[in-house]
Amino acid sequence: MKTIITDLQQTAAKLQASEEIYQSIFETTGTAMIIVEDDTTISMINTEFRKLSGYSKDEVENKLSWTKFFFEDDLKIMLEYKQARFNDPNAAPNKYESRFINRHGNVRNVLINVTMFTGTRRCVVSLMDITYLKRAEEGLQRYQILFKYARDIFLFVHCDGHIIEGNDAALQAYGYTREELTSLSIYDLRALETVSIVKEQIEQAAQKGILFETIHRRKNGSTFPVEVSSQGTLMGNGNVLLNVIRDITDRKHAEEIIKISEANYRTIFNSVSDAIFILDIGSGKILDVNNKTCEMFGYSQEEIKQLSIGEISLGEPPYDNEHAKKYMKKAVQVKPQIFEWLAKKNTGKPFWVEVTFKRIFLNDCCRLLSVVHDITVRKKIEKELRRLSFLDGLTGIANRRYFDKNLEKELKQAVRSGTPLTLIMCDIDYFKTYNDTYGHLAGDKCLIKVANTLQRTLKRPTDIVARYGGEEFAVILPSTGIDGAARVAERLRARIESLGIDHCGSLTSNYITISLGVATIYPEPNFSSVALINAADQALYQAKEDGRNRAKLIDLCG
Ligand code: GH3
Ligand code: MG
Ligand code: MG
Repeated sequence: MKTIITDLQQTAAKLQASEEIYQSIFETTGTAMIIVEDDTTISMINTEFRKLSGYSKDEVENKLSWTKFFFEDDLKIMLEYKQARFNDPNAAPNKYESRFINRHGNVRNVLINVTMFTGTRRCVVSLMDITYLKRAEEGLQRYQILFKYARDIFLFVHCDGHIIEGNDAALQAYGYTREELTSLSIYDLRALETVSIVKEQIEQAAQKGILFETIHRRKNGSTFPVEVSSQGTLMGNGNVLLNVIRDITDRKHAEEIIKISEANYRTIFNSVSDAIFILDIGSGKILDVNNKTCEMFGYSQEEIKQLSIGEISLGEPPYDNEHAKKYMKKAVQVKPQIFEWLAKKNTGKPFWVEVTFKRIFLNDCCRLLSVVHDITVRKKIEKELRRLSFLDGLTGIANRRYFDKNLEKELKQAVRSGTPLTLIMCDIDYFKTYNDTYGHLAGDKCLIKVANTLQRTLKRPTDIVARYGGEEFAVILPSTGIDGAARVAERLRARIESLGIDHCGSLTSNYITISLGVATIYPEPNFSSVALINAADQALYQAKEDGRNRAKLIDLCG
């Protein structure tokens, strides 16, 4: 009996020992483990499961169902497996991958291993966290897809230059088979550089990564331009270089085209006869000028780029920096501006230009294009035309327009200076008869002679004589009082008579003579020029009435 008891005790002790061993294996294995009862309740968990699930022993054991930790889709399959296993433990796979949801809702990839306790519907389930493995696998897959289908060339190169691996794009670009390519070194692909240069690049790439352009050679000997991004990376136990190589034939071609059009642009830029400025919109700074600009302003490219618009302008209002900026602003914000401007050469000599300001886009930047056209000749012609427009076509002296304009001006001047102003209206006596007697052409010649004589007789540069109309002339004598006016009038009369132009039809003389009406005034402000003309006309009428070939004076001063 004692023996039996001892045996029982020994068996019990052994059992306890195996229970303890089992317990300690359950506890210390690096894998999360649970014991699941038939009704899906978890009756036991180990430390790893606590870590995986985020729950404590007390929270889980005999309280939670294992179904709590899985997605519904996955559960469906797992419960099917469970059902199958009851009939035949080998009817369903006891190792499979699934997704595990922990207490915080985080999802882990797990490898599940189910072992049935013989003769029971209990099982022990181990859950191995394979999330990182899974991610690495997916990453690898992604990398493989990228590597395979990338349009860029991928080459893994050993630091000694030996090609370890290349993608499909590489095989296609260089024309080698995979075996051929991996038997080559990077030096075999380089068309230009010496071994030492390539070595240096490999070193730089391994240290900090480099990006460069070079020429690569295909199997058939042809070459193509490439952009290479070379970066050292750890692979397995060794350092390798990952080269991402892009065929830049198209880009180079486009650059060539741009260069050609840039050359065209330069040629046009420099061959036009106008000065062209490219200005910065904000500052008005001169960014670029063509050759003509240098010629026009007398500066070198470098010198002119240091100057402001104000410095190559007259520099006084309205031809200064401030006014130029106003035009710039308008050109940018409203519409292109065209205006005349007084520019200045390096010698300080001002000259007239016509400026166009227009907003343009150059290389994606907003700039101001300024085309400057030298209008010195135009201005001279305009001045001449203006002068001509004030001249009488027949006699060459000032015309009625010039007279009207200047009479007003001189009146104002006289008001300002408080000086007298005299107006003399002269009219050729019996000129109708002259024309009738000697003909119209002789009449014209006579008019020219009379006009020139009147002009020459006037001494002061400020005196003005104009053809007022027909055979009438008007003389403006600034700063001339009644006495001086009388003397001038008499001198004019005498000089015409003394020309001795025969006029047999005149009832007053044998020669051409004039009658003169003189009006003198110290004008008040707002004194009308018409009043002065009327006064002079009245005096002239009087002179005619009194017998012609004489001057009559009206003094408006008193
Ligand atoms: P009066 O002494 O009163 O001034 O007599 P008049 O004949 O000079 O005056 P009237 O106003 O009657 O005639 C002016 C003449 O001047 C008429 C016209 O034949 C002549 N005349 C006006 N303009 C021209 C011109 O441009 N050329 C020529 N040849 N004659 C002109
Ligand atoms: Mg007349
Ligand atoms: Mg007359």
